[in-house]
Amino acid sequence: MTMNDILSKLKATNDRYSMFHAMTEDSDPGESKFLFSAKDNLTSCDMETCSGSRILIGYRPAFDATSIAKMRAAGGKLIGKCNMDEFGFGTFSSNSGLEIPRNPYDLERACGGSSGGSACAAAVFEDHVSLGVSTGGSICCPASFCGVYGIAPTYGRVSRYGLIDYGNSLDKIGVISARAGDLRRYVHVIAGKDEKDPTSCVQPELKDEGRKLKSVAIPKEGVEGLSKDVEKTFNDSVEALKGIGVDVEHVEMPSLKYAMPAYYVLATSEASTNLARYVGMRYGQQKGDLSLKFDDYFSSFRSEYFGDEAKRRILLGTYTRMAGFRDRYYAKALKVRQIVIKDYKRVLADHDAVLAPTMPFTAPRFDDISKMSALDAYKADYLTIPANIAGTPHMSVPCGYDGDGMPIGMQFVADHWNEEVLFDIAERWEKGFDMKKPEVGA
Ligand code: GLN
Repeated sequence: MTMNDILSKLKATNDRYSMFHAMTEDSDPGESKFLFSAKDNLTSCDMETCSGSRILIGYRPAFDATSIAKMRAAGGKLIGKCNMDEFGFGTFSSNSGLEIPRNPYDLERACGGSSGGSACAAAVFEDHVSLGVSTGGSICCPASFCGVYGIAPTYGRVSRYGLIDYGNSLDKIGVISARAGDLRRYVHVIAGKDEKDPTSCVQPELKDEGRKLKSVAIPKEGVEGLSKDVEKTFNDSVEALKGIGVDVEHVEMPSLKYAMPAYYVLATSEASTNLARYVGMRYGQQKGDLSLKFDDYFSSFRSEYFGDEAKRRILLGTYTRMAGFRDRYYAKALKVRQIVIKDYKRVLADHDAVLAPTMPFTAPRFDDISKMSALDAYKADYLTIPANIAGTPHMSVPCGYDGDGMPIGMQFVADHWNEEVLFDIAERWEKGFDMKKPEVGA
């Protein structure tokens, strides 16, 4: 599809897949060099930004997020803001307070989350690239469920200025695309220290021709609890990797199983403070009964506009930070985080990447998701969370399809600042991989 084709079919395609919450009205690409979309928690001055939440309906930011500004400066045209779980809270994008994106391989199934709309758009509009955000796996999970490539760079590589925070110590902006080469191309565009974000780092420069990926370690803990199809496809992919000269070793990383509980303590602790600013007095919705006392006004407004999962996370995160419990939960989770980092450093001293399937199963049906408890959904993240709490760069690569034709992904985790080995293996893998694109309708 040319840029003109994509722009002229934007609305009709969105009616089918619901990947965008807001879209450009402009069907002329003009001088643009490429098209891009962005998760709706990145502020954009020309489109409403809601972060998947009803509480932000009507919010038109006065400025662009740095990552969006850099894409525009490189010649990109922003075509849409992608649907997502409310504030990033979820694994299937079904916790959205707005529209829920549908999987391009089967409309009755989820796209993954929380950057579900971004992965959906990447799979449907091949000649475009999407910016996603990962806190605990929200780039790799949807990339895997939608059969595309997705990378979350090292924490601090990309400025978070203009990102509506979920967990400030965890959030990473990255790239999702149907084309492996886009990961290298657009991480180069958005990377760099930004004076406006003190957590963006002075960093080793990304090179055009970086290090090659020569060896991977597969942790025992990363291949437990998989569906039969994921297990078989992953094993076949490992053989294919050996065939292109990658050394494979099996290792143990005992800390990985503690990452998931630690993450949900850290992420909810940070989220509960970040959500405190939404009280119905600024940003988006400002409806409410002003005759109420201020705390009654805040409570009634927040009860009305936050979704169930946001409320659950406020409760959990407020509890884990409470005086008296802080050491037992929050401080302990920080210690677990250090142990996970050490475990990666130990294994990555001898290997270029840690490898495992991205998700233990393929994209579930919406009716099955509605039967899952919150805990079932949290547990589904056990493969993507460790790299996220370690702040290490990680990438999902499509590696096969299950019996129903649903995509399966594998995840490579490299050491801090070593994105280049990930770009290298994605590009080499793409050459030999038989990608089955979804049949796209509008
Ligand atoms: N599923 C995880 C969560 O709900 C990760 C989501 C994310 O990375 N934003 O927290």
